[in-house]
Amino acid sequence: MGIHSHANLFAPPTTSADGRRNLVGMSKEMLAREMAALGEKPFRAKQLWRWIYKNGVTEFAAMTDLAKPLRDTLDKAYVIERPTIAHAQESADGTRKWLLRLADGHEVETVHIPEDDRGALCVSSQVGCTLTCRFCHTGTQRLVRNLEPAEIIGQAMLARDQLGEWALPHEDRLFTNIVMMGMGEPLYNYENVAAALKIVMDGEGFSLSRRRITLSTSGVVPMMQRCGEELNVNLAVSLHAVTDELRDELVPLNRKYPLAMLLDACRSYPGANNARRITFEYVMLKGVNDSDADARALVRLLRDIPAKVNLIPFNPWPGSGYETSSKRRIDAFGAIVMDAGYSSPVRTPRGRDIAAACGQLKSESQRLPARERLAVA
Ligand code: SAH
Ligand code: SF4
Repeated sequence: MGIHSHANLFAPPTTSADGRRNLVGMSKEMLAREMAALGEKPFRAKQLWRWIYKNGVTEFAAMTDLAKPLRDTLDKAYVIERPTIAHAQESADGTRKWLLRLADGHEVETVHIPEDDRGALCVSSQVGCTLTCRFCHTGTQRLVRNLEPAEIIGQAMLARDQLGEWALPHEDRLFTNIVMMGMGEPLYNYENVAAALKIVMDGEGFSLSRRRITLSTSGVVPMMQRCGEELNVNLAVSLHAVTDELRDELVPLNRKYPLAMLLDACRSYPGANNARRITFEYVMLKGVNDSDADARALVRLLRDIPAKVNLIPFNPWPGSGYETSSKRRIDAFGAIVMDAGYSSPVRTPRGRDIAAACGQLKSESQRLPARERLAVA
């Protein structure tokens, strides 16, 4: 535990197999510097930016407002690359999961969850996770490294490709939101996540508003303030327990940043107000954290915080040792929270049949042998 957000574990190449560099993931400023080095005027960088992030093109040949010699020069030096799809699955409920292979062979998962007239993309921030929340499958994965900005924004670009939405008007799209709730702890890879989200939010490119982005953290207190100041995205906090004793066990990071500290950081999260509440995620574990007394204690903890509560039925995985609370229990718990004035929707599990639901993500190639898995659980 405790890998710092700057740790760069096994940094992968940002170049393609043939040595050309990937333009995806470069900030606007970096792209401008690249163009300046080629002797091009600053507006060329702007044109490129729009082709890459607004139109989603992957070939320089398609950039019709650039002169042919420049397109050739660019093609010799650069690529516009996404991670490759190792495996794609679609759930009976329309949820899609892509297992992505990265340049160094590591794998991560991205999930698209469509609704009637919108939809969220659940994006990963790390290969695996260094934290070991007891109920989370990702936490049992051994191999961990931070994703590069290109690998994070690449997930969003690949989803746009797969959904065929680049040319659609915004109101017709089914990928309208991003939730940083895939594999990994985003605030342990803050720099790269921030770089990717700044690209996503840029109005001349991918153009997703910060109001449509939610970052979920298990409670990396020292990074929360900065995240709010610099990115100002919606915050979700994985609470899951109302006493330090239980949270120490379920979310071991609590031993470092206990509840009082975490809730203080929430109280001072920049941009949190009654119009823009912090979401508290609470996984419902049968007989563990789901009593009426827990619900009442939760309400007391959240006093003075502009909060809403998201109740997540536990999604089982082999060897987890936990069960999902009954629907009746979840409803009773939710009613107490709601009576206290907090909205408390129950998150409908999506894509369970393809193991795409919260906490089920884990790359195939890195599953532990059953014996070790039991030891971890
Ligand atoms: N690392 C971050 C974001 C990824 S996890 C975090 O922990 O917040 C996204 C959400 O799924 C978290 O709230 C997490 O606690 C929850 N989760 C993990 N395992 C789960 C499971 N088996 N069933 C339901 N929710 C789970
Ligand atoms: Fe990591 Fe989040 Fe899973 Fe905990 S719940 S192990 S922080 S991905």
